[in-house]
Amino acid sequence: MEIKVMQSVTEANENKAKEIRKLLKSKGIFMVNLISSPGSGKTLLLEQTLPILKKKYKIAVIEGDVATDKDAQRLMQYDIPIIMINTRGGCHLDSQTISKALNELNLNNLDIIFIENVGNLICPAEFDLGEDEKIAMVSTPEGADKPIKYPYLFRGAGLCILNKTDLLDLLNFNKNEFYKDIKNINRELDVLELSCK
Ligand code: MG
Ligand code: ZN
Repeated sequence: MEIKVMQSVTEANENKAKEIRKLLKSKGIFMVNLISSPGSGKTLLLEQTLPILKKKYKIAVIEGDVATDKDAQRLMQYDIPIIMINTRGGCHLDSQTISKALNELNLNNLDIIFIENVGNLICPAEFDLGEDEKIAMVSTPEGADKPIKYPYLFRGAGLCILNKTDLLDLLNFNKNEFYKDIKNINRELDVLELSCK
């Protein structure tokens, strides 16, 4: 019985995600789902990227946060639409929630939507939000074993960002192991090394 309930939740999520994907395609909007552990640098990546991209594209951000609006506050200064989702303890975003957030945006006047998912490497990977691409972000202090320990995210991602490369000299981050594991999980996955700072 319980298994049946679980399946219907997943199915409802997938159906809604399909609707979202169709809607955004019809509007010519590209949506990115940014997933990482807490503290990997998702918000800083957006802070560094928005001023550059907004010269060329109309952008909105959907911010998922468990308890605060701290990240949304940090992005206020870029003068773009921000929809804040407080999950009240929830550990991921789902397509139903994203659909409501999209209702708050003027989709006729947007090119790109960034979703900053809740900091968590596990269930955000399993909830399709109707995005065009998932970005899996990891940072060097987390260790090189994240891909092999959380393969679902890396299997479904279109890009992996390795952040905080400025700390590589201080850490025992095994880059060979990191790249080898990624190749085994998802041969197509590109890795972008970055220091967002
Ligand atoms: Mg953040
Ligand atoms: Zn969750």
